[in-house]
Amino acid sequence: MSEKSLPFPLRRKNLRAFLKRERLDAILITDPLNVFYLTGFTGGDSWLFVSRERTVLISDPRYELQIAEEAPDIEAIVRRVPTTMFGAVKALAVSAMKVGVESDSITLGEFSRLTQSADAEWVPVSQAVERLREIKDRSEIAAIREAVRIAAAGFEVLRLILRPEMSEAQVRDELEYQMRRIGAEHTAFPTIAAVGARSALPHAVPTNDARVGDGDLLLIDWGAKKNMYLSDLTRVLATAPRPSALLRKIYNVVLNAQSAALEILRPGVTGAAADAAARRVIDRAGYGRMFNHGLGHGIGLFVHERGRLSVNADRPLRPGMVVTVEPGIYLPGRFGVRIEDDVLITEDGIEILSAGLRKDFDEIRVGF
Ligand code: ZN
Ligand code: ZN
Repeated sequence: MSEKSLPFPLRRKNLRAFLKRERLDAILITDPLNVFYLTGFTGGDSWLFVSRERTVLISDPRYELQIAEEAPDIEAIVRRVPTTMFGAVKALAVSAMKVGVESDSITLGEFSRLTQSADAEWVPVSQAVERLREIKDRSEIAAIREAVRIAAAGFEVLRLILRPEMSEAQVRDELEYQMRRIGAEHTAFPTIAAVGARSALPHAVPTNDARVGDGDLLLIDWGAKKNMYLSDLTRVLATAPRPSALLRKIYNVVLNAQSAALEILRPGVTGAAADAAARRVIDRAGYGRMFNHGLGHGIGLFVHERGRLSVNADRPLRPGMVVTVEPGIYLPGRFGVRIEDDVLITEDGIEILSAGLRKDFDEIRVGF
């Protein structure tokens, strides 16, 4: 058995402990990321049935070889036409069971077909596997670390080849190409590259028209996917020969806000407290209303996972969580500044996984 299959049995054991606590006989996992988390199978269109005794992956012939390779220890039902997914579930003899279904993933249509075709006590269950995913094990931390390394290395190459005549779309394409060249499987999400005033739009889509030299800053929000895990980073580059005093000022407020949050982050601190620490710095500088999103979010298999750092996050952080810390100030019509790093909560503090990416104001200036 390959080394990477080792974490999966433990995860299923943790899920079974949940079943026992909730007095469920089984759970039907329909979210593909959760199926991966529990089995190592990276394909789609497959559901996982986990009862107290059995683990069954219900798939179709397209994935037969892939399942044998990625999840050799898992019992698989390869359904063939005319057997539907629902028919295959019914064949698992669930009729006397109380079975959880992932209410954050299954559609209403699927749920109604499921309940019509298979007799069982179906119980909507929310966030069961996502809660387990909040605390990353060693293999997951290693994968995220690698996704951060690739994203940071791609960005450093981009910095070297950045030219004033490059459009936002070219910046995006170049960065994504470099990340893939260095080893990314994919980008973590659609890359944001925004010049000048467009950086004030937190989710700006890169255009062919706006060029790096048109504004006095370039905001890039990007990440890499490696071994299924993601990174999520943001940096601003000051691209004007003489950056304005306002840009320098706003940048330093955001940087100080991020430092204030990083200083208090450790196990036991709530996401709300970290958010408040950053928000206080921005409020005092007079830009509180311009910081219009939460401080951060968990990352892992998905880019916005549990583990939010926001006003409502009242649960204490725990070792093994990986979160982004990304304060921002957005001045409509002028510019936006956001600084985002990926942070591992350790036993006694934090490790900034993206610590190698420079961010003091003088280090983000680009001379052409
Ligand atoms: Zn981001
Ligand atoms: Zn983010």
